[in-house]
Amino acid sequence: MDYRGFFEDAVDTLRQEKRYRVFADLERIAGRFPRAIFRDNADNQREITIWCSNDYLGMGQHPVTIAAMQDTAGRLGVGAGGTRNISGTNRPLVELERSLADLHRKEAALVFTSGFVSNEAAISTIARLLPDCVIFSDQLNHASMIQGVRQSGMEKKIFRHNDVAHLRELLASVDRKRPKLIVFESVYSMDGDVAPIAEICDLAEEFGALTYIDEVHAVGMYGPRGGGIADREGLMGRIDIIEGTLAKGFGVMGGYVAANQAIIDAIRSYAPEFIFTTALPPALCAAARASIEHLKLSSVEREGQQRQAQLTKDILGDAGLPVLKTDTHIVPVIVGDARLCKAASDMLLEKHNIYIQPINYPTVPKGTERLRITPTPLHTDEMIIELRHALVSVWASLELPRERPTAKVSSNKLISGDLTLTGAGG
Ligand SMILES: *Cc1c(COP(=O)(O)O)cnc(C)c1O
Repeated sequence: MDYRGFFEDAVDTLRQEKRYRVFADLERIAGRFPRAIFRDNADNQREITIWCSNDYLGMGQHPVTIAAMQDTAGRLGVGAGGTRNISGTNRPLVELERSLADLHRKEAALVFTSGFVSNEAAISTIARLLPDCVIFSDQLNHASMIQGVRQSGMEKKIFRHNDVAHLRELLASVDRKRPKLIVFESVYSMDGDVAPIAEICDLAEEFGALTYIDEVHAVGMYGPRGGGIADREGLMGRIDIIEGTLAKGFGVMGGYVAANQAIIDAIRSYAPEFIFTTALPPALCAAARASIEHLKLSSVEREGQQRQAQLTKDILGDAGLPVLKTDTHIVPVIVGDARLCKAASDMLLEKHNIYIQPINYPTVPKGTERLRITPTPLHTDEMIIELRHALVSVWASLELPRERPTAKVSSNKLISGDLTLTGAGG
């Protein structure tokens, strides 16, 4: 077999479908967030502004996180030295898990090497341990949650996105005595919409189900101490398992779950994704903890982010650009075509020194391709005006549609068949 040719063909298929991904060569500049150095294929470099980072609050460059990482690396070195099973737990990781348990007001927390791994490990382990468990999963759940559901091998039922009536129907269709697990997100990162958490908790109580929430796009950013949407709404106590990342709002790296001691101990003891891999390095744990503790006390970053996100929505909307209305910090501008979306992104970078990654299928449904803009507290008013001019110019050059989408674009399409293969989110 011509193996090389086979793999080249596999990638060509993606190119033909305009789904081939190119990663920009970027060098972020600490202290000057959201500015970065971009290098093109010929290694020419210039400064650009990043408008699509998931370092939502700029904590990846905050003096507090940098100092914690440098100081801890100096004292404890850079590696963890092995799995926790073999090498024990470095002190900064013990402290990080305490800080996370306290953030979510849970008895315990467990840290993984990424949010992806935490979802895969926790969902699959919980569902596998419960005899004959049925998983109820939101249609637009992130790929890592879908991976956890599949990995468990248990029966799954997909409910229409944020549709509690449909969830109720599915719950009622299953034998009352079977264990049930409802998995969903708080903020969905592509449309920026928010789950009806209280109603889902009501249903869980009524039908005796466990609740598992992914707060990846909310931790650090919502709630009086940055515990997420459930924190803001006073609902953390009604959720059984809260999952989050240390890599987005907190600006570092790693993932975690927080829950009662029994659930955490079970995941710790049974999940191969936890047991057989090296722990996060101590310096990284210390930086993540510094970020979490900072954001428990400081709301300046959260308020700045909300202000700049709202200003961006207003200014782009006033300019007649098709901005999706959201209640969150995520500002999607719909293009609706994969080739044009990539072309718009390229033109922004080449002509306007603005970096916004195109979001195409399978991350979002076909026909809803978009630029996903994430304003941070460090994007100035002037940068927002610059962005407006750049987008208006690109929209005119490429003759992109200007109709403002009214409904939530991807919510009404039941694409669960697709979803089991591809997964939503980013
Ligand atoms: C990014 C993301 C994850 C994965 O988190 P990482 O720490 O980046 O691995 C999980 N869930 C959702 C909804 C995400 O968007």
